[in-house]
Formats: sequence, C-alpha cells, structure tokens
Amino acid sequence: MPIAAEPQQAEKSPPKVSAAERRWKVDDFDIGKPLGRGKFGHVYLAREKRSNQIVALKVLFKSQLKQSQVEHQVRREVEIQSHLRHPNILRLYGYFYDEARVYLLLEYAEKGELYKELQKCTYFSERRTATYISSLARALIYLHGKHVIHRDIKPENILIGLQGELKIADFGWSVRAFNRRQTMCGTLDYLPPEMVESAEHDANVDIWSLGILCYEFLYGVPPFEAKEHSDTYIRIVNVDLKFPSIPIVSPGAKDLISQMLVKDSSQRLPLHRLLQHPWIVQNANPSGVYSV
Ligand code: ATP
Ligand code: MG
Repeated sequence: MPIAAEPQQAEKSPPKVSAAERRWKVDDFDIGKPLGRGKFGHVYLAREKRSNQIVALKVLFKSQLKQSQVEHQVRREVEIQSHLRHPNILRLYGYFYDEARVYLLLEYAEKGELYKELQKCTYFSERRTATYISSLARALIYLHGKHVIHRDIKPENILIGLQGELKIADFGWSVRAFNRRQTMCGTLDYLPPEMVESAEHDANVDIWSLGILCYEFLYGVPPFEAKEHSDTYIRIVNVDLKFPSIPIVSPGAKDLISQMLVKDSSQRLPLHRLLQHPWIVQNANPSGVYSV
C-alpha cells in the first residue's frame, strides 16, 4: 500500500521526503511529548528529522489490533483518510510499521480535543457553534462528494488546529464504534434512529450526528441523553427532542436543529442548505475560525 500522495493544496505540507522515494522508519523521527492515549496505542508529538516537520505519530500495537480483530478497520482508516484534503479534516500523511507496531503520521492539531474545550466551557456561544457547525458541514459535503460517510461524528473525534479551526479525525472506525456501543458501555447518544434500529443507512446519518453536535454545543449535553441505554434508545427512535429554557438559545438555532434531527433520513436538511440557513448566515464566521 503506498503512503499518502503529495498534497494538492493542503495548508500544511507533509514531511518533505516523499514515501515514493523511501520508507519511513521510527529513527526518522525525534519523538516528543505524549499527546494522548487511544484504545490501541499512544499518540506522540514528533519531528521528522530531515524536514523538521512536526507531526502527531500514532503508535498502534499489532498484537492488540489482531486480538480485537480491527486490522481491516485500521487499513480502511489509512486508505480513506490519506486521500482526503480539506482544511477541516485531519490529514493522514502516511504510515509505516515494524515487527510489533503500526505508525500513523498525522497532522498535529495544536489545540487538542474539542471534547475538552466543551467540557471547559460547558456550552458554546451561538457564534462559536454556528462557525463550528458550518465548517463541519463543509467538511462533510467534501467527504460525501467522495462517497465517504464518517458515521462517527462526535466531540471526541474532532480536534482543533492552531487557528481554532476544527479537524475531523478518526476515520474507518464506524463498525468498531458501532459494535463498541452495542457490546460495551459506550454511548448511543450520537446514533440516528436508522442506526440504532440497525436499518440501512446512507450519508444522511452524518446530518443527524451534526444536528446532535449542534444541540450539544449550545446546551452542553446531547439531546437524547438518559441514565439507561434503553431510554436513550427510545428517545432516539421517537425523536424525543426537547429544548430546555436554560441556557437561552435563539429560535433560529432550534429551527436548524429541528430540521436536522428528522427521523426520515431523506427529509433531513441537506448540508448545502444548512450553509444557507439564516441562523448560520447570521452567526457563522465564514473562515471557519473561532478564536477564543
Ligand atoms: P479511541 O478509539 O479510544 O478514541 P484512538 O486509537 O482513536 O482511540 P485517538 O483518539 O486518535 O486514538 O488518539 C488519542 C488521543 O491522542 C486523542 O484523544 C487526542 O487527545 C490525542 N491526539 C490524537 N491525534 C492527535 C493529533 N493529530 N494532534 C493532537 N492530538 C492528537
Ligand atoms: Mg479517538
């Protein structure tokens, strides 16, 4: 499998030495501080020695991937993500491996996880939310144009770049994520009715998840949250959508959310129309950048 091709117009260029010329190895990098821990390995800040390019190096243990039978998902993650070029999608520059590990070379998202930022603020302002939602909608329009459905849009899978722009991460995990939700104690909160009911689904699942995200940004909690899994399930399939009186949220935002959280997936607001929604037009910074 070839490592990522040259970027077309990426805002950051990958390590200068192209994979076509040589294979990466771990000695090509100075390894820096740990950035985080995933289920199957660790992520480190790293610098490619020749080009001085800073990257996030995700180190996965083959034995763990095998044990959990997720090798093909990792392969899919690499295949999908390495071909994507969008300012709001985390770049995957390439990969390499040794006896025990697989290494993914990722764009470094300087400002870390959106999840933590939301926890810190409890909820976001309408301007910030509209800016984020419109940038994610543009990224999803790009993805869907390439016939990629993310299927796992949630705050934990979104990182923040240096300018405050969002970066969608974690591709090719939808099956694993779905299984995890079914078999372990994960959350159902972001799944649309057709996925909790295991019916067929298409790219419109991402519109639903974006609607959930919009609600969560504005209210600090996802809309169908409940103590028991079974209650969340019932609330999702019934689209039991309620808007609390606190925090105060404008009618425009509620209108947008109501048009995205629609049970019949074909009736959800198309993403290009989301970008024209008055609440988005009035509140979003078109650059997609929100500086705190
Ligand atoms: P899980 O499946 O449990 O989410 P994972 O294997 O997908 O784990 P990641 O979520 O990709 O692992 O990475 C773990 C953590 O490392 C992230 O939550 C984040 O804090 C940090 N991290 C990952 N990639 C980057 C990056 N490109 N830039 C900055 N930080 C990152
Ligand atoms: Mg993750």
